[in-house]
Amino acid sequence: FRFSRRPDIGDRIKVSFEFFPPKNDLMEARLWETTTRLQVLSPDFVSVTYGAGGSTRERTARTVGRIRRETDLDPAAHLTCVDASRAEVDEVIAEFMAMGVTRFVALRGDPAEGVGARYRPHPSGYANAAELVGALKAQGATDISVSAYPEKHPESPDFATDVDMLKRKVDNGATRAITQFFFDNDSFERYVERIRRAGIYVPIVPGILPVHNFTQVANFSARCGTHVPAWLAERFEGLEDDPQTHALVAAAVAAEQVLDLVERGITDFHFYTMNRADLVVAICHMIGIRGSTAASENRPVAA
Ligand code: FAD
Repeated sequence: FRFSRRPDIGDRIKVSFEFFPPKNDLMEARLWETTTRLQVLSPDFVSVTYGAGGSTRERTARTVGRIRRETDLDPAAHLTCVDASRAEVDEVIAEFMAMGVTRFVALRGDPAEGVGARYRPHPSGYANAAELVGALKAQGATDISVSAYPEKHPESPDFATDVDMLKRKVDNGATRAITQFFFDNDSFERYVERIRRAGIYVPIVPGILPVHNFTQVANFSARCGTHVPAWLAERFEGLEDDPQTHALVAAAVAAEQVLDLVERGITDFHFYTMNRADLVVAICHMIGIRGSTAASENRPVAA
């Protein structure tokens, strides 16, 4: 694959990083190390996930608050509709607003029993992500991301239903869609064409998942409807007990995917960091996003 950057788009690349709220002091220390390493890459924003049924409500708020207070990063708070009344969700929104957070990632979420269980809206809650977007907008959110599924959400009977849901979210005020992770760039491109044909014009930002552990990613992909191509499985074959080679292959695979998307004209990328910096730093480096002034002055000239 090509290690060059297209000179006309390289400088316009924007990245965002997703974290999950840490469960204990050790994980918090690791997240802090990660944010310190990633903040020098000047991401457009970072986001912090929200556990099913509000299970991480306090931890998400604490993490978002700390990022706001102690870094230059601009945090977005994820929020879901699961198992919460409208009043409860509105209270969480108000808490974030009081911290000065106006960026959100609005989701329906999955039932607490896990992906695959049947979703039932809370009787007095927001029925879906589109309604949540409307509530956020009404309460003054300025930047609202929503999910998008290049390979279709597993619950969607067809692409038309999926695209229709995205349209409802955008009509209610979503300003950006971030995709589920995927490995097949052709399916992403077809999906973007499909939603543009449906009259949806917000940025569709590919969600990139660096493969820290192929076995886990393959299992998770099966549950969320992401296709794992045979070539990808072959690249990681036999590396289960060789973490160093696994990491090198993972960096190469993700860089290849991102560089191919850059070639296709994509300029915004969202990284599912899993609270780890190494692979993300390597991939960003390869698309010309460097940490220090000295490094950026030494950016390679695109071939
Ligand atoms: P929606 O956008 O409301 O729906 C997704 C698709 O499912 C729709 O396109 C629609 O076609 C279909 N669908 C939904 N309901 C039905 C139905 N009743 N019948 C038929 N089809 C239906 N989860 C968390 O718990 N916390 C997070 O912080 C979080 N962050 C995420 C961030 C991103 C960028 C993405 C892509 C996902 C995230 N998720 C998170 C996962 C998400 O909650 C699940 O994928 C969930 O199953 C759907 O939520 P949604 O907002 O994408 O749903």
